[in-house]
Amino acid sequence: MRPVRVRFAPSPTGPLHIGGVRTALYNYLFAKQHQGTFILRIEDTDQTRFVPGAEEYIREALDWCGISPDEGVVEGGKYAPYRQSERKNIYQQYTQQLLDAGYAYYAFDTSDELNTMRERLQAEGKNPQYDATSRMSMKNSLTLSEEEVAAKLKSDEPYVLRIKTPEDEEIQLNDLVRGEVKVHSSTLDDKVLLKSDGLPTYHLANVVDDYLMKISHVIRGEEWLPSAPLHVLLYRYLGWEDSMPQFAHLPLLMNPDGKGKLSKRSGDRFGFPVYPFDWKNPQSEEVSPGFRESGYLPEATVNFLALLGWHPGDEEELFSLEELVKVFGLDRVSKAGAKFDIEKAKWFNQQYLKELPNSSLAKYLLKDLSENGIESSPEKAEQVCGLMKERITFPQEIWSTAQYFYQPPEHYDEKMVRKKWKAEASDALLAYAEVLEGSDEKLSAESAKQQLQQLLEDRQMGLGKVMPALRLALTGQGGGPDLMSTMEVLGRQEVMSRIRQAVEQLNGNT
Ligand code: GLU
Repeated sequence: MRPVRVRFAPSPTGPLHIGGVRTALYNYLFAKQHQGTFILRIEDTDQTRFVPGAEEYIREALDWCGISPDEGVVEGGKYAPYRQSERKNIYQQYTQQLLDAGYAYYAFDTSDELNTMRERLQAEGKNPQYDATSRMSMKNSLTLSEEEVAAKLKSDEPYVLRIKTPEDEEIQLNDLVRGEVKVHSSTLDDKVLLKSDGLPTYHLANVVDDYLMKISHVIRGEEWLPSAPLHVLLYRYLGWEDSMPQFAHLPLLMNPDGKGKLSKRSGDRFGFPVYPFDWKNPQSEEVSPGFRESGYLPEATVNFLALLGWHPGDEEELFSLEELVKVFGLDRVSKAGAKFDIEKAKWFNQQYLKELPNSSLAKYLLKDLSENGIESSPEKAEQVCGLMKERITFPQEIWSTAQYFYQPPEHYDEKMVRKKWKAEASDALLAYAEVLEGSDEKLSAESAKQQLQQLLEDRQMGLGKVMPALRLALTGQGGGPDLMSTMEVLGRQEVMSRIRQAVEQLNGNT
């Protein structure tokens, strides 16, 4: 096999969609598995769709996922520049080559003329496109005389360059995901290769750059499959068929209900992020939520994305990036669209979150605490995180569900109060507070338990009668992490004071 060189080639026309991140990931995995090279090429020849900040966003997203390019706009490399707008001069000679060989032609039609043509074809019940059947009725170098063409070029009349697609030919390509793909040339249109602004279109720049950058495999989304036959023709017409990359078109990401392509609108409709990070639209200032800000960890996002359209062949689902490099293969990429299941993404997040060291998780909590004007030692934050991490999906939930580690409860869960706050329990709790008051050692989960057990034994009461009331008094809630460990984190004074506060507040109500 020739050296593996793959590229992720986004256009900076807006925020990178999460499906784009998946394409980048599959390219990266494939490259690394074959000791190959992963390239980031920015395809910005369509200046009208350029969005400021989009390129930085793309680079940051790849970086967040840990899939750094080996060659690219920032990394540089042997085939630099990697930004197509900086490669303008390169494309010229290839358009000339196509023109000289008769595979491309000048077209001078105005947009009005193009519209008239489309309307006419539509009215005739034909495919309204500029193609092998319609081109001979248009204003181009196939229909005009050589002198007329020369005069138009001389007078700077705007023109585009179009590919001359064959009239009657079956174009074949072998796709590593889809197998043999055959397309009849009569369905293709004579796509513009060079625009009137002198810049190449995506098709030409993409093929020329893939060739020049020695790309071995083109791994990209299914939406590009219809363009592949045209690319095959370009390779042929430029005499590069022997070094044409192999194609692999990845399945689309579909909405959770399987209906329609995953889009920004689906994110809004179903209430989940479809971008790696928050994206602020530079014009409308509207912010679309991202995976990162929603609390997804990069490892979980990568794992989730890897399985959207690829399956490992067994039941195993948890894979680090390094493991994915080992097990990934294009042969197990499915043809069918992959349903975007956000519940699965949450599940992955839980799995990775509970494996995080408490100190990493504490950073999130400390940030939330400081935003709420609460001071905490890193040690306490780590302890809280250690207790909470099995019970949450996102880091921000630690603060929202376990504020009681930092503030006494203001409310007590009413249902639990009705069910579990009994005179007998409240008496026992007060007595427990007395016991704690009398002891001067640091409260540990162990000692807290021992003292409580002793007290209940003396009173001939079961733990079950008191624990729910104790939890209620300390946290205001009916459930939570291990209560004895919770007490250790709260400390002796706080436990005593909260018991007394609850007794005072709740006994009045029962
Ligand atoms: N510039 C194209 C895009 O925005 C690249 C498609 C391809 O990989 O060929 O996705």
